Amino acid sequence: MAVTGAAAPQGPVAQTIDLLGDRLTLAILREAFVDHVRRFSQWIDRTGAPPAMLTARLNALVEAGVLERQPQHSGHDRYDYLMTELGIATWEILASIWTWQREWSPEGRLQPELIHVDCGHRGPPALMCLHCGAVVGPRDAHLELDRESLALATGSGRRRSTRNSPSVSRADLQFTEVMEAIGDRWSALVTGVALTGVRRFGEFQAILKISPTTLTERLGRLSEMQILTRSEHGNGREYVLTPRGRALFPIFAFLLSWTQVAHPDALPLGPQIRHRACDSWLLPALRCRGCDARLERTSVHFEPLPFRT
Ligand SMILES: [Zn+2]
Ligand SMILES: [Zn+2]
Repeated sequence: MAVTGAAAPQGPVAQTIDLLGDRLTLAILREAFVDHVRRFSQWIDRTGAPPAMLTARLNALVEAGVLERQPQHSGHDRYDYLMTELGIATWEILASIWTWQREWSPEGRLQPELIHVDCGHRGPPALMCLHCGAVVGPRDAHLELDRESLALATGSGRRRSTRNSPSVSRADLQFTEVMEAIGDRWSALVTGVALTGVRRFGEFQAILKISPTTLTERLGRLSEMQILTRSEHGNGREYVLTPRGRALFPIFAFLLSWTQVAHPDALPLGPQIRHRACDSWLLPALRCRGCDARLERTSVHFEPLPFRT
């Protein structure tokens, strides 16, 4: 799958983070899922994004196979942008991001709530392992990282400054807090490695081959955002995930599993998660906390947002 402007070979995981770790892209997808938005002019109205920036994001989503253009011969817009099967498969990533935002961020109440149509339950779903059916948390899982895929994940390529780009005007589309964790490759990898239980500066450095300056900066920022917490521990400082940080686990699990769907032939696969209890690669799914059934895209309704401008 082609990547625009890639300066170096990039791993599939890096491509996923570059593509989806972007607030305007998340806003585009959310409007498509929740309100079936499919036209350029509708996204402009809803996001307030500069047209050139929206064009760039839509092009990237088309190139990645998430959206497809369908020419229109009537009306103001030249194309409809429809979700492909791969696009629809991002719904669990989006749902996990909304769930995290609703639980852990002051702006989260503005995110859609999930309702299981079959049983009527509303609220945050659980993460389950499709192999054994058990509910999985970060402590039940083991992230396997191999050197080669990490090098690819962090290798130089197209980068965006997502932190300061005021690309979306509405508060409910900003995804500000979750962007601190998934908005760039280094933050995502540091958070991902922390989810595997790594705590010490030296260990992060050894695993990620990251410069001390960059690592210090990312650890500082993630601590400021209360994703990690610093503690002095005998002979050194430790960085431990807060409950808020640990709750990011489903987002990472779905980002990795979606990456494998998007790049079925890619080798190396990149970081992979094993479920300790059943000793299989984790194939994650969402499970209803009301009736314990697996949630499918078609059995879930996204509650309309509390306000519309
Ligand atoms: Zn399992
Ligand atoms: Zn249910």
